[in-house]
Amino acid sequence: MEKNYRAELTAVFGDPVDGNPTGVMEEAAYEALGLNYRYLTLRVKKEDLEAAVKGAKAFGMKGYNLTMPHKTAVIPYLDCLTPAAEIIGAVNTVVCRNGKWTGENTDGKGFVLSLKRDGIKPEGKRITLLGAGGAARAIGVECALAGAEHITVLNRDVGRGEELAGLIGRKTGAEAEFCPWTEQARIPEGTDILIQATCVGLYPDSGRKPDIAYDTVTDRMVVCDVVFNPERPLFLQEAERRGARIVTGMGMLVHQGALNFELWTGKKAPLEIMYQALAREFGASQI
Ligand code: NDP
Repeated sequence: MEKNYRAELTAVFGDPVDGNPTGVMEEAAYEALGLNYRYLTLRVKKEDLEAAVKGAKAFGMKGYNLTMPHKTAVIPYLDCLTPAAEIIGAVNTVVCRNGKWTGENTDGKGFVLSLKRDGIKPEGKRITLLGAGGAARAIGVECALAGAEHITVLNRDVGRGEELAGLIGRKTGAEAEFCPWTEQARIPEGTDILIQATCVGLYPDSGRKPDIAYDTVTDRMVVCDVVFNPERPLFLQEAERRGARIVTGMGMLVHQGALNFELWTGKKAPLEIMYQALAREFGASQI
């Protein structure tokens, strides 16, 4: 049999990027399916993005992920966007098909899939979203496209929060409103799903939790966090203590990674192997 020593390349471009664990699960998945693919974690400075995009073309890469500060800046270099990436205005995954470079956003889709994996559907639900940054935008838009009835956006920065609520209201079928995030913010009564989509609580700041009135979190809520390190941030611990059902950020991370894998390889992602690879990495006993 003729040997092929050439690997198919995938990557993440970001800065900072050293702490990004995506490669661990993607490489585990490639190995499990016997694919000669590699996932490179590449530090690409803000001013070097165009060169990196040209490099990806020159190397014939299958695609790549983008993280800070490139998720919006990459758009002018792509041939087209998926409808969701267009609405969100940010791209976390690029895939090359027949020489065409398409920008997708799998963050919010990964979140919705992680909810569904736990038997929770956004359809008809009232959602409260903490934050209005990149992760919140992707989650808000995808939950709305998945049929959420109403989304309340709580954010400190009024401009960013109003923009997200306006975007959801205009571009999806969901109702959306903005509430300024003041100290000890109260979670609206009737909230079915509460989503913590800020970076508060992320390692090494694991001793912090969002400034909300925790007595307004009830046992009829599903409470989710995007932070995956630590796996159970103080926010989720507080919610669990109040009887809420919790969903960790690990599910979102694995599901968006699985979607990327499928876009790049055309094969079904080995979800369980990807979960286990990350669990080993973070030393989690159970995810
Ligand atoms: P951004 O920088 O785009 O947004 C940060 C958001 O956090 C803003 O809404 C900001 O509010 C808010 N925020 C920051 N500090 C505070 C605070 N002290 N109190 C209240 N709000 C605060 O970041 P991203 O959206 O890209 O990332 C957010 C988190 O999501 C990170 O922890 C990241 O690791 C995680 N993430 C997880 C993924 C997963 O797969 N699980 C995927 C992608 C991201 P303001 O606008 O007022 O400044």
